[in-house]
Order: sequence, then C-alpha cells, then structure tokens
Amino acid sequence: MKQYKNFIGGEFLDSKSGRTFENRNPANWDEVVGIFPKSNIEDLNDAIGVAKKAYEEWRRMPWPMRSDIMRKVAEIMIARKEDLAQIMTREMGKVIKETRGDTQEGIDTALYASVEGRKYFGYTLPSELRNKSCMTRRDPLGVWGLITPWNFPIAIPTWKIFPCLLSGNTAIIKPATYTPASVGELAQIFKDAGLPDGVLNVVYGGGSEIGEGLLNHKDIVGISFTGSSDIGQRIGEVCGKTLKRCSLELGGKNGQVVLKDANLELALEGVLWGAFGTTGQRCTATSRLILEAPIYDKFIDMLKSRTDALKLGDGLNEDVDVGPLVSESQRESIHSYVEIGRKEGARLITGGGPYEEGECSKGWFYKPTIFADVGPNMRIAQEEIFGPVLSVIKARDFQEAMSILNNTVYGLSSAIYTNDLNLAHKAIEIAETGIVYINAPTIGAECHLPFGGMKNTGNGHREGGWTAYEIFTEIKTVYIDYSGCLQKAQIDTAK
Ligand code: NAD
Ligand code: MN
Repeated sequence: MKQYKNFIGGEFLDSKSGRTFENRNPANWDEVVGIFPKSNIEDLNDAIGVAKKAYEEWRRMPWPMRSDIMRKVAEIMIARKEDLAQIMTREMGKVIKETRGDTQEGIDTALYASVEGRKYFGYTLPSELRNKSCMTRRDPLGVWGLITPWNFPIAIPTWKIFPCLLSGNTAIIKPATYTPASVGELAQIFKDAGLPDGVLNVVYGGGSEIGEGLLNHKDIVGISFTGSSDIGQRIGEVCGKTLKRCSLELGGKNGQVVLKDANLELALEGVLWGAFGTTGQRCTATSRLILEAPIYDKFIDMLKSRTDALKLGDGLNEDVDVGPLVSESQRESIHSYVEIGRKEGARLITGGGPYEEGECSKGWFYKPTIFADVGPNMRIAQEEIFGPVLSVIKARDFQEAMSILNNTVYGLSSAIYTNDLNLAHKAIEIAETGIVYINAPTIGAECHLPFGGMKNTGNGHREGGWTAYEIFTEIKTVYIDYSGCLQKAQIDTAK
C-alpha cells in the first residue's frame, strides 16, 4: 500500500492538516490502494502561490520547448502503461482492457500536445489601411483550477493538463477522492519528465473544501470542470460572480437508435459495449435504447441472452467483461433507480440487483440491468443513472425515434444504426448532441477531435483536439502600423 502526497512546487508533501483518507479497491474492499493527504485551505494557498510564481517563467518558455516536455511525459507513460492501467483498475474497478485504453488516451493527448506546440496557429488578416498589418495570437491566462471526476482517472485529467500547460498556464488539479492514485502517478511522471517546479500541482481533498477553495480564490483565472450537472451549476454560478473563465463538461443521457433496416448484430455489439462497458459509469454511456417497432421484440431477446452471458468480476482478470461500481454509495444510488423503474411500471428484462456470487461478494458489483417498455418521460428515461442500467423504448418510426432521442435535457452523445444513407444524414442533422455516431456506439471519442455536449451537458466549450486550446488561451489582436503617420480606421477609409 502506497502513501501518496500532495505535489506542490515540485515537492511531494503531506497536508499541513495532518489528516489523511484511504482509497480502497471496489472489487475487494479489504484492499487499501493508497493513503492520501486530506488537504486544507493552507495547502491549497501554498499550491496557488507557487503556481503563480512559476507562471512568470513558464509562460515565456517557447511553445515548442513546452511541447518537448509533453513528449517526454508521453514516453514515460508509454513505458509505464501496464503499471498505470493496473493501478487504475485497482482504484476504480473498470476492467484492465479499458484502463489500458484510458491510459492510452492520456498518451495520445500528450503526443497531440507535443505536435500542437509547433503549430498552434493565429491568423493574419489584411488591414483596411495601407502600411498596416493585423494578426491574432494566443496567450495563456495564468493559474487554472482543474477539477475532475473518477470515471476516467487518467484520460480526463490529461485532457485538461496537457492543453492547459502547453498553452503556458500553470495549474492546480484536484482529482476525485475515489481515484486519487492515477493523478498521483501522473505527478511523478511530470516530475521525471523535467517539468519545472510549480507548473503542475496536485492537491487532494474533498469538493466542498478544496474544490470550493479553488473556485473562490482570487488568483485562479479559470476552472475546467468535468463532473455532474449539479456541481457544474454551482461552479458556473461562482465563476459568473467572480468572472473566471469556466469550462463545464457535465452529465449525459445518451441514446442509441436502431432502425428496422439496421445490421442488428452490429447494433447489438454496440449497445452491449455502450451500456455495460465501464459498468455504465461513463458520461457517454448508452443509457437509452430506442428501437423501431418492427424489430423491438426480436432485438430485446438478442440483447437479453448476450447480457446474461457477461462475466462479472475483478477487472484485473483478462476474461472479465464487467467490473464493480466505484463505491457503495454509487451502488445504492443505482439500485434506487432500479426501484424507481419498477414502480414506474417498466418491465425488468434482466438484472435488477447487486451481484454477490463467489469472489464478487467483497465488491460493489451490480447485475447488468435492462428495462423494456420504458416510457420516454419516465425518470429512468430522463435522469442520468451512471451505472449498468439500460432503458429500452419503442418508437413507431424514424421521426418518433429521433424525437425520443432528443427528449432529454442532456446532449452529449448519440448513436444511430441504419444502412439508409438518407436517414443517417437526416439523423446527424436532427440529433441535439455534441457527438453523433453512425453505426457505432455512443462511446469511442478520439483525442484529436472536439469532445463535449449541447444543452445541459455543458456550457459550449469542447475539450479534445484543437478546441481544447481555445479554452485555455486568450486571443490577443495585434495591429502594426508601419506608415509612420496617424491613420484612422473607418475615418480615413470613409467614402
Ligand atoms: P461530481 O460532480 O460528484 O464530482 C466531480 C468533481 O467535483 C470531484 O473532484 C469532486 O470532488 C468535485 N466537487 C464536488 N463538489 C464540489 C464543489 N462544491 N466545488 C468544487 N468542486 C466540487 O462527479 P463524479 O461523481 O466524480 O463524476 C460523475 C459525473 O461526471 C457524471 O455526471 C458524469 O456524466 C460526469 N462526467 C462528464 C463527462 C463529460 O465529459 N461530459 C465525463 C466524465 C464524467
Ligand atoms: Mn477507490
């Protein structure tokens, strides 16, 4: 069992509070994965102080030099990939194939950053006037607060850290308390890669203490947050009052539509992966399955038999399909939704309770669960459940399927299975989601493309790709007049 520390000014430090918290393996609650400092505001103030100081040098380092450090981070992550994946499976439960993928997403994001550092373009534009040129450039803002959830312990922190730091900002990251170890390992990797002290700082602790501390600190210029819509609203509120820049990536209630002409085998593979991968604990999880009437009964039969064959267990075993939920409280919350579904009159097809067979008796396992005959306005069709619970809804035709798909306050990801080219294009236009998949499940983002949602899923920013850099930079517009005399725009050029 490892004793982790805060990472402040390049040093690994205990909290000045003297307090700690432990993190346990959700597949086996007897195993303590690590002990972590439970920080207080003093620790946070120290971290913000060193980050502010480090900013002055870091912002002046040329982008390509900063990107070289990102490449070194990628190299160390590649060498440590298996080790990082195993730690992640032990701290949050998802299966090893997926934690390897989560780590790979971090590596890809680092490599993308290492290239972006040599090409982050501004614009040059013509002037209205003679002997004058115009351009835009991008500059950093200062010290950022990065607040992350537990479901992608490396991928989500790296989506924020790499563009934030490469752009010349410095940062404090507060990871979720369920998954502190992965970010602790990342801190060590950044140190080993030669990141200057104070550029990246890790402060462990709870949302109400360290999260709120970041929001309310005058020296924090922006908050990049991924998590639930409830907390996101709170963050938006404080950032509004204090005029901090604020990027919010929030909840989802993603739907997969299967039209009657679709390749049903392909759609079946898609929904199994979309609904039950990461034990349903993904912002992009498929949580609603919208089936066109003629294939409704047949598809549910196909889905039930494949779902019942999924193997639950410790995610470190290569042949396990579905790991545990992250915690006891998540399991209770998911089970309460299953009770709600029953009371609302949905038909339980399979699952519906905790799974406690054999070695699973010591973990937060839950049976993959399917409800059919779900009404589009039932709570299980409207609210984010964040577990292995799939609500199946029947649609008369394409039009009705699309209106059910859009009948939610969220707008992250959608999937449409059809071989009809015209309907596929119509669906792309109609879907009110930031990400649309055709003949692929609702999950599967690639690091070089924009990622984010419409409606209550966010506030209009996109992480991933070049758009992540728009969050972490300020546009500066530059006019250079080389005429040697006073030229007046709009006045000298007036007819
Ligand atoms: P959460 O909102 O409970 O917590 C997220 C982070 O916010 C944690 O680090 C937490 O400690 C911190 N926090 C809590 N209260 C705070 C406060 N008052 N001030 C500042 N910080 C505070 O979310 P979670 O349970 O960790 O993650 C699951 C949620 O995240 C789901 O809703 C899921 O959809 C969402 N999510 C969204 C995306 C996306 O990109 N859209 C990706 C992954 C997860
Ligand atoms: Mn844990």
